[in-house]
Amino acid sequence: MKQELIERFICYAKVNTQSDPNSHTCPSTSGQWELARMLVEELKSIGMEDVTIDDNGYVMATLPANTDKNVPVIGFLAHMDTAPEFTGANVNPQIIEQYDGGDIVLNKEQGIILSPNDFPELAHYQGHTLITTDGTTLLGADDKAGIAEIMTAMNYLIQHPEIKHGKVRVAFTPDEEIGRGPHKFDVAKFGAQFAYTVDGGPLGELEYESFNAAEAKITIKGKNVHPGTAKGKMINSIKIAMEFEQQLPADEAPEHTEGYEGFYHLLSFQGSVEETKLHYIIRDFDREQFEARKAKMKEIAASLAQKYGNDRITLEINDQYYNMREKIEPVRHIVDIAHEAMTNLGIEPKVKPIRGGTDGSQLSYMGLPTPNLFAGGENFHGRYEYISADNMVKAAEVIVEIIKLFEQKAS
Ligand SMILES: [Zn+2]
Repeated sequence: MKQELIERFICYAKVNTQSDPNSHTCPSTSGQWELARMLVEELKSIGMEDVTIDDNGYVMATLPANTDKNVPVIGFLAHMDTAPEFTGANVNPQIIEQYDGGDIVLNKEQGIILSPNDFPELAHYQGHTLITTDGTTLLGADDKAGIAEIMTAMNYLIQHPEIKHGKVRVAFTPDEEIGRGPHKFDVAKFGAQFAYTVDGGPLGELEYESFNAAEAKITIKGKNVHPGTAKGKMINSIKIAMEFEQQLPADEAPEHTEGYEGFYHLLSFQGSVEETKLHYIIRDFDREQFEARKAKMKEIAASLAQKYGNDRITLEINDQYYNMREKIEPVRHIVDIAHEAMTNLGIEPKVKPIRGGTDGSQLSYMGLPTPNLFAGGENFHGRYEYISADNMVKAAEVIVEIIKLFEQKAS
């Protein structure tokens, strides 16, 4: 299985599928079409059925049931794009067999080294086969490892018809990294009762809680007057904006929070005397706290409007996604089964809240409860990204085990 995974992964990694938030098409970039078409051919060649690709680049396929038991239809998803913030062109993966635990020279010419001094987690990988970048690009283990693991698990089940299972659906989706992964996902066509994204980090990760998320845009209008004659007339929008920021609790910011703590994050601040714009994101696991944070922003805006004039301050808040826990809790057994699958394989499940969102955060609210499983990679979105091929094997085995468990528990 390991060689098969390495080959698949490297083949996918070489296609540049970096997504682009400024594009309005779906997929946002043509490289994703290229990978999507490759995956369609591969799904057909391994013997998957109902292989489809729609106008938006979503690839779906079916592994038909081989049992008469009444097993729920489950799905597995991975995304095809890589992060916009680091180049995904000309990815040239390096394979390190039997990693010795020391420094890995990614690029001799440029002196780029992946070192356990900077990344102590490398210690866990002694003896593993590692796949790294050549130091000039990201690797794309997020989430091409997930695609390779799903594909390999499907191939394994097709090659082993003695393993009984219900109907399994798989999907490969575009534009996760720019938050649009589920936007055009056809939940009805997919037709699964639950799904798992295979898009997590290191071995054992199992996630079913994400942030509730909103963004806030504040525009403050000032009044510019020559500073020599400004007394009693000038209104400096920058200073009102500073007042706004200062009324938020200083310690509830990303740089001061962890675990289940929420925050306000000032993403950008652009201003002149005449006009200042603030862009925030608001994050909280707890729905009530999340609503309270939005209310707090409205309160501050209202008090500043009272002080400086109603037409000076506009506040626009948009919800982005919600904590998937609310939708997964009622079908909690899907998390328990993933937990059991890992334990059966000797993997210690690491259940933790995601301080962000996954495609599952949106899909769960579209009627497809979707927790997240580890794909195995480390240091996502940059030149130091790497993945253990041995842990990719474990991820593929977890997928197979989950499918087995659903069948075993059905009647
Ligand atoms: Zn991802």
